[in-house]
Amino acid sequence: MKVAIIGTGSVGAAVATAIKNTGLVHEIVLFDRDGIRSRAAAMDLGHAAAFSFDVKITAANTYREIRGSEIVVIAAGANQKPGQTRTDLLSANAAVISDIIPRVMANVDPKRVKIIVVTNPLDVMVMLAQKLSKLPVSRVIGTGTMLDSARLRTILARNLDVSPMSINAYVLGEHGDSSVVNWESATVGAIPLNDFCRTMKLPLPATTRKTIEHRVRNAAYEIIQGRGATWDGIGAAVADLLRCIINDEKRILTVSTCAPKTNLSMSLPSIVGSDGVVHVLTPRLSSAEGAALRASARIIRKNYNNI
Ligand code: NAD
Repeated sequence: MKVAIIGTGSVGAAVATAIKNTGLVHEIVLFDRDGIRSRAAAMDLGHAAAFSFDVKITAANTYREIRGSEIVVIAAGANQKPGQTRTDLLSANAAVISDIIPRVMANVDPKRVKIIVVTNPLDVMVMLAQKLSKLPVSRVIGTGTMLDSARLRTILARNLDVSPMSINAYVLGEHGDSSVVNWESATVGAIPLNDFCRTMKLPLPATTRKTIEHRVRNAAYEIIQGRGATWDGIGAAVADLLRCIINDEKRILTVSTCAPKTNLSMSLPSIVGSDGVVHVLTPRLSSAEGAALRASARIIRKNYNNI
């Protein structure tokens, strides 16, 4: 399996490392408009490969070199500076996606390729990439709220003293400030969250839930404040998504894809396999969560119309 990564800044390099460490790909090709940066990343990562899986890692000078890639990850574009929202990146990154997608499509097999979008504002970039690529919606997949859901599960795990792997809890809607925590369908193992909290005498009152929601939505801002950018979490999320696709695992992930009826991308629990997103599920929502999800969808639509 050959994978191309377009954009090899903080995120693209972390994605490359995480993908290499899955051991599932034999070749990774890195492209960045800053060729010096992608060549340096390919060298550094190529040396790391000598300690683990023997993956061929190259830097491409032209898009021709991504030929044969079955998965293309788009991690190029402006990132948030301290104080900026993801929406602030809209016009700069719409231009980046508009530059990249036609060049990618001229060099991949449209019958097979899957595009994974990481660039923010994520949901709008997925819609734009799908429109420009003309690929089926199932094969243009945004990492969506995979990372937000991971943040939620990790925080809950610490509160409930149970592994994040045993917590099924989703963040839905926009990968952004209007994301929605879906408490209503959260379970620990197969036990509804509320029942688990009652049985274990670990109360999770409304005030604690609000604090958790804030921590989830604010996580990127906090990391950017302290570290300049976020990369490890998203690197792991992309590698997990790639593993799910390559192994045809049919796991449920909160990825962002264009819904054919509404022509809007946002994150919902979706079954992901080798054909990409094979089914989008509708989780149980409280009335407040349903209203928040509709508001989130309106924000994504408005941002898309503003491009
Ligand atoms: P960065 O500035 O470190 O790297 C961006 C890279 O993109 C640079 O190397 C730049 O040269 C390259 N680039 C820009 N325009 C290009 C073009 N037209 N063609 C090829 N390469 C181009 O930024 P970063 O921290 O790596 O972030 C990249 C993107 O990922 C940002 O939009 C950021 O907001 C997003 N991000 C998304 C998530 C998520 O959960 N979806 C998480 C973290 C970051």
